[in-house]
Order: sequence, then structure tokens, then C-alpha cells
Amino acid sequence: MGEGAAIYNCLLCDSYALVVLGVLPDRKLARGLKGKAAYDDLLEAFQLEFAGSSETVRLLACPTCNAFARQSGDAPSPAPAAAPSSPPPPILAGDQLEHGEFLRDALAVLTPSRLVSFDEGEPPPVYRNDAAPEAKPKWRLTQGVGPPGLELDKSRTGRLHKPSLRAFGVDARPLALPPSLAGGGDALSDATRTAAAFAERCVVGGFGDFGDARSDATEGKATVSRWREEACEGRPVLERWNAARAHAEAVMGPEAFRAMAEEATGGERKRLDRYEAMRRAETSSAAGGGAPTRRGDEVSDEFDSLTSRGGRRRARE
Ligand SMILES: [Zn+2]
Repeated sequence: MGEGAAIYNCLLCDSYALVVLGVLPDRKLARGLKGKAAYDDLLEAFQLEFAGSSETVRLLACPTCNAFARQSGDAPSPAPAAAPSSPPPPILAGDQLEHGEFLRDALAVLTPSRLVSFDEGEPPPVYRNDAAPEAKPKWRLTQGVGPPGLELDKSRTGRLHKPSLRAFGVDARPLALPPSLAGGGDALSDATRTAAAFAERCVVGGFGDFGDARSDATEGKATVSRWREEACEGRPVLERWNAARAHAEAVMGPEAFRAMAEEATGGERKRLDRYEAMRRAETSSAAGGGAPTRRGDEVSDEFDSLTSRGGRRRARE
């Protein structure tokens, strides 16, 4: 058994991370020559069914974009004459546990992403975690063409160490945010949320809500791909945010775009602020009184009762 995962690339920030696709066929099936052949067929079927094509746009909870979306406050004035190679702003990604909690609470932003293929025409490769359940994950290539092993970064969110993919033909340039976003804060958070909302409108249901004829999801996915390829010249959407924003506004129409951006930033930020405040209270009471820390789902339940939003939206089941 074991989970099978693929590598995805976020179209907004150009991060690479792993997404679990499903449970792999049992290795015990691969006994004897016949068993081995049958097992290989099952692996290939898994790859074709779940990894599909690198052209498909999926909405996934990119760890970097979620760290961006959680930034708040006024951005500090940008450093004078910042070099083009200046490092990206600090990434406040929580660890895997917190990331998971964030997803369950439906607070995460989902960003347009594509599974990565390392050989043109080949479906994206599938990886298996060979580590013991409690040990550090060790993802190994199990089906398809790709790097034999993967190097995760230190965030413990399934994100890969991007420079480690350079040897396999990946453009591993770090994200270079424009000056308006490079300081982080609300500007970066709002841009990330607005970009994610636009992509979601495209991928999930086209623009049906806005009375636009382009309500077909296939067309919507093509719109997202063109967004990066054409409006952003193939660079990550956040890196070319001014052009990307203008393009999205032109596609949706100014009024619909403004309404969407307001909902994506204002309303969501209030929910997030309440959640962050609750987490802070949680942490300080646990640190102070020596009382046992409550489990995440208790916090979630409490949070749910505070929020007006109905059924929880789940990123992944
Ligand atoms: Zn991202």
C-alpha cells in the first residue's frame, strides 16, 4: 500500500510541491513474473487515471501562496535600489500540521497549478513515500519519467527544494515579486487572494455568476493557462501582477472583477483575522498555564461556530 503523489507547479508563485493522488496498488501483488507484470500495469493505470496530463489546471493549496495570503499589515517601505536578485519576502509557512488544520478549516486559498512532466508527451511521474509512518518522508519515483528521489524543503508542507529540480530541466529561478508586492503585507495578501479567486472562477464554473458566456470549465482552464503564458509571458502570475491583474479585469469586465476582488480580500480577511486571534489565544494559554493543549479539531469546531459561512468547503477529501 502507500500513497502515490505527483509534483505540481503553482502558476501564481512558481513553487513546486507534492500532492497526494491516491492509494497505490499493493506491492505484495508483484510476486513472480506474472505478478510483476500485472503490478506494473496497475501502476501505469494509476498514473494515467490520477496524474493524467500536465496540461490540466488543478486548484491546489500551494504552501507559499497560503503564506502570502496570510500576510497582513502595511508593507514596510521597499529597500532602496533593491537588486533584481533580492531574496523573496520571508515565508511564514506553518508546519505540516498547521497547514493541514488550515485546509480543514477551509481557510486555505486554492491556486491554479499543473502537475509536472519531465519528458514531453509523458504523463506526470508518480512518487511513493518509502519512509516509515513517523519518519521523515522519503519520496521515490515509482512510475513514469522523473527525478529518482525528491528533496523537500524545510517547511514540512510537502514543498520541494526548487533548486534541486534544476538538474532535471526545471527553471529554478526564485520568484521575483514586483516592487508593489515585494514588501509583503496586505498588498501581497490581496494580490494572492484576488489571483486565486480569478483562477477559481475560471476553473470551477467559468464566469457563469457574472452572466458571461464563458461558463464552460474547459474554456475556463484554458483561460487560466493563457493568463500565465500570454499576459505574464510564461512567468509566475504574482511576478507580473500588474499585467495579470489587467488581463483578468479585461476578461471579466471591471465591475465583476471589482466585486470578486472585494469578496476575496475583505470578507476572507475578516474570517482569517478571527482565526488567527483564536490561534494566538490558544498558544498563549497553552504556554502559560501548563494546561493540556486542545486538539486542532476542537479549535476548528469553535471557529466554525463563529463563522457565518455554512458548509465547509474542503480542499481535498
Ligand atoms: Zn503558489
